[in-house]
Amino acid sequence: MKKIVLMAFAILNLSNWAFSQTLKVNDTDFSKGRLGNIQTVELQDLVKFHGHLCDGLVEGFVALQYGLYQLFPDSLIDRTNLRIVSKPSPCLTDVAVYLTGARYQFGTFYVSNDFEGLYVVQRIDNAKTVNILRMPNVKPEIIDLMGKQAIAGNLAPCDLEKLRRLEDDYTLFLQQNKPENLFELKILNEFVWQPVLKNDFIKTDILNKNAERCNK
Ligand SMILES: [Zn+2]
Repeated sequence: MKKIVLMAFAILNLSNWAFSQTLKVNDTDFSKGRLGNIQTVELQDLVKFHGHLCDGLVEGFVALQYGLYQLFPDSLIDRTNLRIVSKPSPCLTDVAVYLTGARYQFGTFYVSNDFEGLYVVQRIDNAKTVNILRMPNVKPEIIDLMGKQAIAGNLAPCDLEKLRRLEDDYTLFLQQNKPENLFELKILNEFVWQPVLKNDFIKTDILNKNAERCNK
């Protein structure tokens, strides 16, 4: 019990993270406006958009921020100048659209399992493209193993809590390590943007919404 309390404190104490939790973004300044509306986007904003703080959200935030800085060396992310392919996780896809401004309906965002890593993100004006991958052995395998069981509806209520603690531990690990020790960036010189608009992925983070509570 003590460990859980300490961990929760560490996650809520956002000041000690090894990466920046804010990102500067550049957008247009009205419905028909010009570029130059510079705003700061925080991880907490993304938490509200997504619905909860989770390991996938933090993973996506750290990984994509790291990749976007390769495309925008001045660290000002132009959300009118990006397109992105994401793996189908509900957390990763929410980070992708929020941080890049890319959208399915405008042909600047699509979801696929047919590539390596978490994201492929492209700056439109110069076609510079970065593939963002998680390094091997960063994410504990048990999380995906139990995650699959949860998706299949086969995790008992108290095992769902165990999975939550494992994910929180992983979130803490992401919090305490620098992006360069967690993710790898590959520059793709030959990447051709060919969106495949598919909409039958499963939103896995709502499947257990009516599961019983663990009473232990
Ligand atoms: Zn999530």
